[in-house]
Amino acid sequence: MAVSKCTRLTGPLTKQVLDSVDSVLFDCDGVIWRGDQAIPGAPEVINSLKKAGKRVFFVTNNSTKTRKMYAEKLGKLGFEASKDEVFGTAYCSAVYLKTVCNLQGKVYLIGSNAMKQELEAIGIESVGVGPDPVSGGQKDWASVPLDPEVKAVLVGFDEHFSYMKLNRALQYLCNAECQFVGTNTDTRLPLEGGKAVPGTGCLLKAVETAAQRHAQVVGKPSSFMFKCMANQFGLDPSKCLMVGDRLDTDIMLGSTCGLKTLLSLTGVSTIADAEEHQRSGCPKRQGMVPDYYVDSIAEILPALQA
Ligand code: PLP
Ligand code: CA
Repeated sequence: MAVSKCTRLTGPLTKQVLDSVDSVLFDCDGVIWRGDQAIPGAPEVINSLKKAGKRVFFVTNNSTKTRKMYAEKLGKLGFEASKDEVFGTAYCSAVYLKTVCNLQGKVYLIGSNAMKQELEAIGIESVGVGPDPVSGGQKDWASVPLDPEVKAVLVGFDEHFSYMKLNRALQYLCNAECQFVGTNTDTRLPLEGGKAVPGTGCLLKAVETAAQRHAQVVGKPSSFMFKCMANQFGLDPSKCLMVGDRLDTDIMLGSTCGLKTLLSLTGVSTIADAEEHQRSGCPKRQGMVPDYYVDSIAEILPALQA
């Protein structure tokens, strides 16, 4: 069907593409909402897809909420959604530690309360959430008290990130047996008006630099998030469409996992970015060229109402 990549999804092609898939995976920020506001038309698109018998999933690198919190947010914004359809990095990191790392012990968590809750829900105890209890005046930082039961360091979004947390993570990671996992590598979180704030990638880079180790990353573009939902729902990659606003995370994940890909221009990446990857001829960058693009997912609504 997709003879050339980066094709605008309009007219009869929209229906053709939707008919060729049974599941649609939506990135969240920049595709179905921006901050606390739904993208106009997005709830109608998702609810209509479901009515048409498609499975819908919500896939976000944002580690600050549990599945339940996302389901509540989705409901408030007008989306029909259940928590089982949500795959966020707080939940997926907990699954990763349990099933891939086979963790037997506690986690030193640089992250949110939501991450602590998702770990707990899967039977993993964590320490470290909130401000570090040792705030200053310490003479011997390398001797900061550690929990001997900690067998992994997990780094996600943490508004209380500090030198002492970085130091503590390093002390744990000096032990080569201590596993090292990061939720995602997004370096910047874009805000309205061209503004931005530092993302989890900045915190993870700091810990990687201090520990002189690379973390195992759970979030997009790593294929784990897709594997996690494919396992639970028996998904056939060739019958899935990944919709995202970032070429380096969402579209790359889709390409790596063999999904059809659709770029929505309501978020971070532009069509010029995609064309630049395409023109580069670099094989690795071709994974960042989407099959299709739309100005907004609202554009697919007419095909669902036909
Ligand atoms: N991480 C954090 C902390 C965020 O606030 C956001 C977006 O709001 C993201 C990651 C990116 O989320 P998504 O994958 O839904 O675009
Ligand atoms: Ca996004």
